[in-house]
Amino acid sequence: MSLIVQKYGGTSMGSVERIQNVARRVAKWHRAGHQVVVVPSAMSGETNRLLALAKDISAHPNTREQDMLAATGEQASSSLLAMALIELGVPARSYAGWQVPVKTDSSYTKARIKSIDASRVQADLDAGRVVIVTGFQGIDEEGHITTLGRGGSDTSAVAMAAALKADECLIFTDVDGVYTTDPRVVPEARRMGVISFEEMLELASLGSKILQIRSVEFAGKYRVPVRVLSSLTDPDLPIDEEDSSGTLITFEEDTKMEAAVVSGIAFSRDEAKFTLRAVPDTPGVAYSILGPIADANIEVDMILQNLSVQGTTDFSFTVGRADAERTLELLEKQIGPSIGAGEIVADSKVCKVSIVGIGMRSHAGVASTMFRALSEEGINIQMISTSEIKTSVIIDDKYMELAVRTLHRVFELDQEKGAAEAK
Ligand code: ADP
Ligand code: ASP
Ligand code: MG
Repeated sequence: MSLIVQKYGGTSMGSVERIQNVARRVAKWHRAGHQVVVVPSAMSGETNRLLALAKDISAHPNTREQDMLAATGEQASSSLLAMALIELGVPARSYAGWQVPVKTDSSYTKARIKSIDASRVQADLDAGRVVIVTGFQGIDEEGHITTLGRGGSDTSAVAMAAALKADECLIFTDVDGVYTTDPRVVPEARRMGVISFEEMLELASLGSKILQIRSVEFAGKYRVPVRVLSSLTDPDLPIDEEDSSGTLITFEEDTKMEAAVVSGIAFSRDEAKFTLRAVPDTPGVAYSILGPIADANIEVDMILQNLSVQGTTDFSFTVGRADAERTLELLEKQIGPSIGAGEIVADSKVCKVSIVGIGMRSHAGVASTMFRALSEEGINIQMISTSEIKTSVIIDDKYMELAVRTLHRVFELDQEKGAAEAK
């Protein structure tokens, strides 16, 4: 007997029929003698619908109330799934995050899980029930409902698996695993049977939507075995077959003896670029610009400072698009005037495209292959950042899909063995 946490995303929970299919799948695992905790997302489109309603009422909705609202999507889908299981004769009980409780900090709309008391869930499991715990939500110290950021049900599931010391966390979604890049953009993308934890962490942090980054961080911290697989297969598929499908996140670097130089490509439109022109080139200037941004809890991603010409320099940086408005306000009202900067230029029509691979550690020239391929397509690189296992560029977002497809081809990711050596 194993203890398995299964997460089902919005598409997987998207209709009554799909919820009934999830129930059949869960019932199969339960009847085979496993203890099962299910973490569902809201039905597809529901979180967007709720957030749009909030925007209809207020241009800047109160964030506590926004979380109170958004959390209802998961409460509905969880209870519907419990009913579907009970219809199949499987004892099941659903809980909202606060009932478990899943404790978080108080950063509404992007709260972090601090602890989970799994005892109530474990007691239900021991009594033979399937337990359903809402994804995406928790409760803070003062008892306010919080949500974990878009895509947060992944994190709920992996954190729940860690708290229960589960044998495995299965992330059921609308694709059959983690691909070399988003198969919606590059139909030739290939599914990876395994992916190293480090590569998954990079892909998620660089914008690949398949897993929320914090779920990968939890998996790494607590060594939770995570498998990403399809919920759209036959729900009666034999368990052995199901449990070896999809993509396993592995912590064993050795399992990828022949690590691909580049194993995946991530992209993100969630970028906004700001440039301050004619900034006095004096010590402390970067701090004077970025300090107030950090104090406002805005995360800065890439930074570029040009060479100084006649004592002044241009300073550029990127933030997430959701923070663009506040960043511009800070720059115009506070930072620009205080340091005596010239023009402030905001550009939200940029995107980030990244290549990721642990093989990049031992191969020189990967970045230059990337830059050449982009230049041959006439794509101008505006900013670059690198780490041991990734290279990212900021480009005009109208070229995003072209850049992703070009790099996928150049690094031969559509081919069985991955990129041996890009030509
Ligand atoms: P869920 O609702 O199940 O959480 P998401 O929409 O959040 O599903 O994530 C699944 C989607 O992620 C896929 O439909 C796919 O378009 C996208 N995706 C992005 N990058 C990748 C990738 N490298 N491999 C697989 N899917 C990816
Ligand atoms: N329902 C939430 C969202 O749409 C959380 C999730 O699906 O993971 O972002
Ligand atoms: Mg998701």
